[in-house]
Amino acid sequence: MNKDNPKIIFDDLINNLNYITSKKELKIINDAYLFAEEVHKGDKRLTGVDYIKHPLNVAYILSEIKADSDTIAAALLHDTIDVGKADKVTIKKQFGDNIYTLVEGVTKINRLKFNGDNESTIANYRKIFVGLTKDVRVIIIKLADRLHNMRTMSVLSKHKQKETSNETLAILTPIAHRLGMNKIKGELEDLSLRYSKPDAYFSIVERLNKTKTERNQYVEEMIENVSDLLNKNGIKHEIKGRAKSIYSIYKKLDKGKKFSDIYDLFALRVFVDKVDECYQAMGLIHSAYKPVPKRYKDYIAMPKNNGYQSLHTTVFGKDGNFFEIQIRTYDMDIVAEHGVASHWSYKEQGKSLMQSAMEEKLQFFRSIMELNKNTNDEEFLSRIKEEVLSTMVYVYTPNGDVIELPIGSTPIDFAYRVHTEVGNKMVGAIVNGNIVTLDYKLNDNDIVKIKTKKDSTPNRDWINMCFTNQAKNKIKAFFNKVDKTEYIKLGEESLIKELRRKKISINDFLTNDNLSKIYNELKIDNTNDLYLNIGNNKYTANQVINIITNEIKSKEEKILEKVIDQEIKEVVSKNDIIVEGIDNIKINIAGCCKPIPGDEIIGYISRGNGINIHRCNCPNISDINERLISVNWNNTINKKYDTNIIVEANDSKDILLNIIAKTSNIDISIQSVNTIHNTDTYIFEINVLTTNIDLLNKFMNDIKNIKNVLNVERVIK
Ligand code: MN
Repeated sequence: MNKDNPKIIFDDLINNLNYITSKKELKIINDAYLFAEEVHKGDKRLTGVDYIKHPLNVAYILSEIKADSDTIAAALLHDTIDVGKADKVTIKKQFGDNIYTLVEGVTKINRLKFNGDNESTIANYRKIFVGLTKDVRVIIIKLADRLHNMRTMSVLSKHKQKETSNETLAILTPIAHRLGMNKIKGELEDLSLRYSKPDAYFSIVERLNKTKTERNQYVEEMIENVSDLLNKNGIKHEIKGRAKSIYSIYKKLDKGKKFSDIYDLFALRVFVDKVDECYQAMGLIHSAYKPVPKRYKDYIAMPKNNGYQSLHTTVFGKDGNFFEIQIRTYDMDIVAEHGVASHWSYKEQGKSLMQSAMEEKLQFFRSIMELNKNTNDEEFLSRIKEEVLSTMVYVYTPNGDVIELPIGSTPIDFAYRVHTEVGNKMVGAIVNGNIVTLDYKLNDNDIVKIKTKKDSTPNRDWINMCFTNQAKNKIKAFFNKVDKTEYIKLGEESLIKELRRKKISINDFLTNDNLSKIYNELKIDNTNDLYLNIGNNKYTANQVINIITNEIKSKEEKILEKVIDQEIKEVVSKNDIIVEGIDNIKINIAGCCKPIPGDEIIGYISRGNGINIHRCNCPNISDINERLISVNWNNTINKKYDTNIIVEANDSKDILLNIIAKTSNIDISIQSVNTIHNTDTYIFEINVLTTNIDLLNKFMNDIKNIKNVLNVERVIK
């Protein structure tokens, strides 16, 4: 049944629910129907039919995708709160928490109005996504509800029709797509087109009708021929002609194609029992009909992200007409049509498989919500557009698995999509055989290989280089979780090292007396906390030592010391940077981007002067594909490197002094400052010397918090 059925009665629904065997569940559905019927008594739809026919049709649509009994009952009850004014408490009492939660979820979503000014649109996007995360069945009911409302939309005003259609295309069909619910998605798209662009819609319908007899003849003939071919080879099968969705034709015309050029108007679908028969059928078809190059797709070996599996090919048929052919098993067909909604019955540790599948699919919705907490509306909207509504790129792993990512994604996104550990241990990326920088934008069909190293860890800079929130969140999570014990170890090592440097005996220093002085000063009470405070850079080892050695200097003295602390910059040691597979080569740090330990780096093999080390995001190497070589910082370096940062401020008063003061807490020193006075801002170009990126980031953050500072950035020349 593909149309609204105003005559539908409850028995039709029950007949369709033959997959539900539990008497108890059927009783609840029956009760839900009686309750809704009572609540909606006297109410009419705009079409004039009794209101109860609407929830009944929604439940019927859901019965066709074999929804579970809770979902069917909730569908029957979905309008009882807002339309029928039923009491929430009664529903909860009579039908239990599970059904009530679903009814409440749909009610909440239905209260949202998506049209209107930008701001409320954004706010409502948020709410729908929040609602979504609780239980995917809410959105499935919502899709069925919308489908029935659109099937009966002809009585609404033109304005309302357009509004509903636009909302459906903007919000609901992308979600249906992500959930793999292609059948409902297709019908929603066609209906939306019909009401939002009736001229375009009916012109396509007309043209299809004009050629219908002719097309049907072609398709029938083709079906017969293919069927003969498969029968002769003993492959049991069914073949159906496939109507191309009007919306998909519209999209192609909209992209500038001519009607006569849309070559897959003739389409058929072959169903077989087993996977190997799919391939056999494909082989037989290719042996009889010449395939169109590059139109063959194996979504069985490489399923789409939403679980879709099939073989696709296009062949030259009679009179040079193209035939698009899809071959799949019956099982694959259920997933192809209903996606997430094909997993109703399976439960896994109390959580349905469907819910798990949805959680995976909707990972990005959730990350959008997380993002939402600390960004402004504009950024949020653009993220939604980018991640949900934009098209995707499809890239491959070296094994040929397809990975779907939003356009703009980089190897970092890819690595984290493959596996968190692949992301966390990534040291480089090779695309189509070439080393690329980690901010390389992936293109369709790129084959991406991620190089990993066992003890490598992510870099904070990656957050700016990746695109998906999934990757950003995983990188952030890594840094949040870096083991406390790691810091403690780091802190202890750092204190011991500093004591050695100062030629102070460790035993002399760590006396109970000294420790209590230190604890007192730092407001802690054990050595673990002491090391932790040093390890996470709250205090430097030097500051701790100074508590005891009474090197308490005035602030000015400290500032002075820092400024004149002109450590002689050492030439980069080749031991600091590891070049894979090459020993004993001259290493130069590129002056344009001045990487420091912890920066993601790449080597450029210069002509006759060793390897120049750039930051991976340095634009000076972004166009270079040759002569690049993967390099890494040696994790054991503790030498200082210098780099440039730019501070922009709207006042010069005390800024420099404040910046210098910020160096007193961390192991960082300023080597030179160059001040530029623009018309209304001051720019300080500062050359700093430090041991690693974490310290630099902390320093830059500290500067950002100084009054009148507008911006702080690394410099790339
Ligand atoms: Mn409804």
